[in-house]
Amino acid sequence: MLEIGTHNKPKGKKALLLGSGELGKEVAIELQRLGVQVVAVDKYENAPAMQVAHKSYVFSMLDSEKIRETIEKEKPDFIIPEVEAIATETLIELEKKGYNVIPTANATFLTMNREGIRRLAAEKLGIKTSPYRFASTKEEFYKAVEEIGIPCVVKPIMSSSGHGQSVIKSKDGIEKSWQIAQEGGRVGAGKVIVEGFVKFDYEITLLTVRHIGGTSFLQPVGHYQKDGDYQESWQPQPMNPETIKKAEDIAEKITTALGGRGIFGVEMFIQGNEVIFSEVSPRPHDTGMVTMISQDLSEFALHARAVLGLPIPNIAFHGPSASKAVVVEGESQDIVFSGLEEALNIPDTSMRIFAKPEVSGHRRMAVLLARGNSVEEARQKVQEMAKKIKIQI
Ligand code: AMP
Repeated sequence: MLEIGTHNKPKGKKALLLGSGELGKEVAIELQRLGVQVVAVDKYENAPAMQVAHKSYVFSMLDSEKIRETIEKEKPDFIIPEVEAIATETLIELEKKGYNVIPTANATFLTMNREGIRRLAAEKLGIKTSPYRFASTKEEFYKAVEEIGIPCVVKPIMSSSGHGQSVIKSKDGIEKSWQIAQEGGRVGAGKVIVEGFVKFDYEITLLTVRHIGGTSFLQPVGHYQKDGDYQESWQPQPMNPETIKKAEDIAEKITTALGGRGIFGVEMFIQGNEVIFSEVSPRPHDTGMVTMISQDLSEFALHARAVLGLPIPNIAFHGPSASKAVVVEGESQDIVFSGLEEALNIPDTSMRIFAKPEVSGHRRMAVLLARGNSVEEARQKVQEMAKKIKIQI
């Protein structure tokens, strides 16, 4: 039986969020709705989740010492990673001491690095993926490209949101692709994965929630990416029942191997009736923001319930929906949104402004949400909203 007491009293429950972006902010809100105290951490001040948390700390989540010190001081009941780049060896250590890392410390360790999760899926679990090679030196890289063949996709093993990612379309592009990967990797130069280019019909995120009563799948989320970063997502992605079943089997296999409780975003490519696993996040997924309008319990609410060990007897779906990321380009610490009246005058729409304190380069600052009679209509609505929203930087 779960007991949720008063904050800072023996039965009070406390969650520590490692990562305080827009996804963490929604998780914080959902945990607070159930009476949980929330401590938010990120490397900069005023990050979105910090703005709604009870308490916050500013330090790099790759700083093992700071993570250990803060966790030992705060003694959270739940340690909830929101980003990939975390000192995961420290989480493994803390889990051994009895701390509850969501979903598991090993899951955060394996998914921080493209190599860990790819080898687990393809080599241990026998799940179909694109052909791949890893390379640490330029020489190995040229050999890998030759073996995989052109076109192929190159990604640093430690990166996300398309950083350092490129597609080699001809021999002339090999050298450039190596440079892009070396400059874009999260922790500086390093190892890359070379993947065969999958000419998929469409790609999905199959949000999968492991909870006290078992594993539940959400309606598949379709999405459109540009330069490795999500632009639009919609739900449900039309799929035939046989393909959905294949996708669910893969999601079940990989999430079972990672273990623990919480929501997972399982990314897959669909080509005809083939389902090809790409990667998995053991946490809410950006393309899953669409669930803030499509379902009664969003992916964030489901994550909170699963983490707390509360039941998820059903997931009510409200119908075809879409989301569109609002990405801002430039340099500013004073970002002004307008046109909200016109955008939100469209029926069955909503939006979230993340209130990130600054932009330097390009940054996702808000998300537009809509429901419609069909996915097409919902997508048209978010596109219409995007035309009406004005951003001054
Ligand atoms: P990732 O960072 O691995 O999620 O990749 C970002 C996006 O790049 C994916 O959502 C796809 O749209 C595209 N992509 C990644 N890997 C491949 C691949 N092997 N073949 C074709 N497209 C890919």
